[in-house]
Amino acid sequence: MSLKLGKLIYTGKAKDVYETENPDRVIVKFRDDITAGDGEKKDILQLKGYYNSLISSKLFEVLEAAGIKTQYIGLLEPGYMLAHKLEMISLEVITRNIAAGSLLRRFPFEERQVFEKPIIQMDYKSDEYKDPMLNDDIAMALGLITAEELNDLREITLKINKTLKDFLETKGIILPDFKIEFGYDCEKNIVLGDEISPDTCRYWDIETWDVLDKDLFRQGDSGVMDAYKKVASMVLDDEDLKKWGLNEI
Ligand code: UDP
Repeated sequence: MSLKLGKLIYTGKAKDVYETENPDRVIVKFRDDITAGDGEKKDILQLKGYYNSLISSKLFEVLEAAGIKTQYIGLLEPGYMLAHKLEMISLEVITRNIAAGSLLRRFPFEERQVFEKPIIQMDYKSDEYKDPMLNDDIAMALGLITAEELNDLREITLKINKTLKDFLETKGIILPDFKIEFGYDCEKNIVLGDEISPDTCRYWDIETWDVLDKDLFRQGDSGVMDAYKKVASMVLDDEDLKKWGLNEI
């Protein structure tokens, strides 16, 4: 696999997507930009894209091994992911195992309340409308998805949650919540896309409950990159490092 970027076809808050010679494949570049609060708070953190691509790649591999279809094909080099081209669905699918973040601002849950069963929340992905939470009827009326696809998506999401939660626990990380996005591949299958990184998940250290994710940036703390680097070193093993030609994280 070689790094030959085609036309830039999409640019988001933290990633760029490039065409490749194969119309069904794209290259996703993980950038160092970080934003919070609908883009109100912005910065550039050296090596963030590098670590996020390594963490995402490992977690996509774990999901693939559990039989979940993902966009991921491989990393061309740290920072650059070769992926199946998807037509993205404008939904942010958030799964919550422990109460944190906006849920506490909106509802009377206790901080760190552990849910008996995971909560799946769907938000409409739209900067213009500020990502409002929606329900099935609104998602269907907007023409984003069908009732059958919503059922499939819920089932896949629960499996993703269990797989990630179990894997991360073995690496010393608690997964309070995370956001994922899906799209259709060229055969119209619903496939997991986007990324699974400390930008899009909450990760807490299982021993200390220290925050190891973007909440550090949201709160204006220093040490954001140290936390991302720590997650990468906890999640990747020696085999992974060797595969990407790295001696250490
Ligand atoms: N999240 C995300 N992008 C968004 C909103 C949320 O990746 O636009 C992730 C966030 O990192 C967290 C989970 O989804 O892991 C739940 O976020 P929450 O609704 O608590 O919002 P926040 O506290 O991030 O404003």
